[in-house]
Amino acid sequence: MKVLVLNCGSSSVKYALFEMQSEKKLAWGIVECIGLPESFYKRQAENCQEKKDIIKISNHTEAVELVIKELLNNIISDISEITVVGHRIVHGGNKFSKSVLATEEVKNNLKWCFSIAPLHIPAHYAGIEAVEKMLPGIPSVLVFDTAFYQTMPDYAYTYALPYKFFIEDNIRRYGFHGTSHKYVSRKAAEMLNRSLDEINLITAHLGNGSSITAIKKGEVIDTSMGFTPLEGVVMGTRCGNIDPAIIAYIIDKYPQYKDTVALNRLLNQESGLIGISGISADMRDISVAIDNGNQRASLAFEMLCYSIKKYVCAYFGILNGIDALVFTAGIGENHSAVRENICKNLDALGIEIDLQENIKCSNKERCISVKSSRTKIMVIPTNEELMIAKDAQMVLTNV
Ligand code: ADP
Repeated sequence: MKVLVLNCGSSSVKYALFEMQSEKKLAWGIVECIGLPESFYKRQAENCQEKKDIIKISNHTEAVELVIKELLNNIISDISEITVVGHRIVHGGNKFSKSVLATEEVKNNLKWCFSIAPLHIPAHYAGIEAVEKMLPGIPSVLVFDTAFYQTMPDYAYTYALPYKFFIEDNIRRYGFHGTSHKYVSRKAAEMLNRSLDEINLITAHLGNGSSITAIKKGEVIDTSMGFTPLEGVVMGTRCGNIDPAIIAYIIDKYPQYKDTVALNRLLNQESGLIGISGISADMRDISVAIDNGNQRASLAFEMLCYSIKKYVCAYFGILNGIDALVFTAGIGENHSAVRENICKNLDALGIEIDLQENIKCSNKERCISVKSSRTKIMVIPTNEELMIAKDAQMVLTNV
């Protein structure tokens, strides 16, 4: 069985074609800078060199058409080889609690979500329609980043604003990176050789955007990102948690931030590592600057680690202990100094990192705690695309 995974972002389309029995990626790629004078099409297939083209692509429909034509030319001989298409959907609001087949009713409900993720959902919708046109008769399954969080209790997802904002405006914690947290939680259970419903986990997805999730017996009970991905820990360009009164103070003092576009840019794109260091949003650049003695880079690094550590400790308490702390995504998988900083001095919680194991480079899942650590520390490379493909397969099997 082959499953095509599509991730239509605000100005890009990423794709991957999986053979499900082997869980191998047969082909994958990205169309970037959609709608700009020059778009880029990068693609790769198993055992082949990457190919790159500069090409003009006006919209997501054209991008999906391009991808499907390329697959037909080089990878598959007929569209019927694709059993199902799994679409990554960033936000399902409170309309979607699990992955679903894209029926007309589901598509109408998805339109309702346009307003909560206006950059992404229209792009996802265009992707679904392009698949209907290019792959007639092949079902689409929608896999939501927010679905994994539907098990959170109301006291964890409700903000202490006047209740009408929840009732009338659906302002609540939704959580993000759900597909990644779900994938690594399942892998962690496999590594522990335990059933997911008998273990507690804290999963730390640390990339440009980062989120920490508390998972009790397979169900999420809390997560650091909120109504939007801005809440939570210090990130590459996002400020994470700040005193909300700072926003009104800034607006009063600097009138340019009355414009919500400018204000959102400040908080989402000009803060975090880049805002503090003034150097870069990329942890690799921050590390180089630290080695060169840059104080603000050191501060940015310490702040990021400290903000993550606070969530780890809070969730440890809420879960009344955990079986494993799991690191994933660009920083979580690769940055040993971040992992060391977060885990140091947590022996009171039974979290003891093995410094030798921690610094070993690997792209495989691994355990980096000392043997005697009550809590295992794991590094698990995320694979959101495979998780989407598996969910799409599962939905189709259960129809
Ligand atoms: P996103 O998917 O959110 O854009 P990623 O998961 O790719 O982000 O993570 C990007 C972050 O991971 C960057 O801060 C980058 O510096 C860091 N990163 C990626 N590779 C490495 C590495 N080999 N060593 C240290 N940090 C890395």
